[in-house]
Amino acid sequence: MKILVTGGAGFVGVNLCKRLLSEGENVVCLDNFYSSSEKNLDFLRMNSLRSCSARLSSQARPLCCRVGDGFEFVKHDLIDPLPESVLNNDFDQIYHLACPASPPHYQKDHIYTLKVNFIGTLNVLELARKHGSKILYTSTSEVYGDPEVSPQNEEYRGNVNPHGIRSCYDEGKRVGESLCMNYFRQYDLPVRIVRIFNTYGPYMDREDGRAVSNFIVQALQGEDITIYGDGSQTRSFQYVDDLLEGMIRFMNSEENFPGPVNFGNPHEITIKELADNVISLTGSKSQLKFSDLPQDDPLQRKPDIALAKDKFDWEPQIGLEEGLKKTIEYFS
Ligand code: UDP
Repeated sequence: MKILVTGGAGFVGVNLCKRLLSEGENVVCLDNFYSSSEKNLDFLRMNSLRSCSARLSSQARPLCCRVGDGFEFVKHDLIDPLPESVLNNDFDQIYHLACPASPPHYQKDHIYTLKVNFIGTLNVLELARKHGSKILYTSTSEVYGDPEVSPQNEEYRGNVNPHGIRSCYDEGKRVGESLCMNYFRQYDLPVRIVRIFNTYGPYMDREDGRAVSNFIVQALQGEDITIYGDGSQTRSFQYVDDLLEGMIRFMNSEENFPGPVNFGNPHEITIKELADNVISLTGSKSQLKFSDLPQDDPLQRKPDIALAKDKFDWEPQIGLEEGLKKTIEYFS
């Protein structure tokens, strides 16, 4: 198949491109490196997954480069009209991931985050409509805001502060979902909406500012572990390979079902427990350092994954300890 991955150089995107290439798909990866690193594409330079033909030149990095059979990279910002080379490509599938996703990144420019989710998603939906491509939109557990129920299932409408510092992302993703649902209803576009809960693994950016990446980097360097608040807030952390499996099953399902569907690991822990785990797995001497909890930081988050189990026979396979070990190895 011919598959477009927007945001393909980001954390989830790179893992997805690698997996799709390893399955023999033809992948076009689109990214503008706003919150991702060009270095993430090194895997193509150093070790072609197909044949040695897949190489991205480290010297000359053109706007749009063909790097070998099966993989093409396009540098583009989705809030601008899509280039002809992309518009004329009749993709079978589009994974639409592009959006800054960690709080420090999406709060760098709130308006830009909103634009990517509205204008960017609109541009990608129009592309999908032009060719009748299946499109999977990566929404987020952030659409539940600071939830008043636990676990959160897809019926729950959330508790989002529309004026808060997280709203550019929360509301941006909500409008993205709305766009997708309306293309599904109005144009019969085969849309799939996934709500991704906290995910971690190789290719996370060390500057991402997330709990898992911060704690691992801090522990490996023997620095203080920065806990915001008293660390009693909870999250449920899913290893990236589990997420990919769910997304691919959903994308490839025959049923004309748009979702939304939660993908996350229901194993809920406090942030302090996460820090303790990382310290123990790295054997670090780092100490915990507490500071203020950011505004609107959700106190709890835990997915109800009954729908994913029912529809796709999916549930996470990789526990926190195993996933953290793999991630620590990557950061090491
Ligand atoms: N967090 C923390 N220290 C950090 C980074 C994050 O205590 O260095 C907290 C953050 O305030 C939140 C939780 O860990 O309560 C998860 O944060 P992350 O940014 O990983 O994900 P999100 O807030 O999007 O769930």
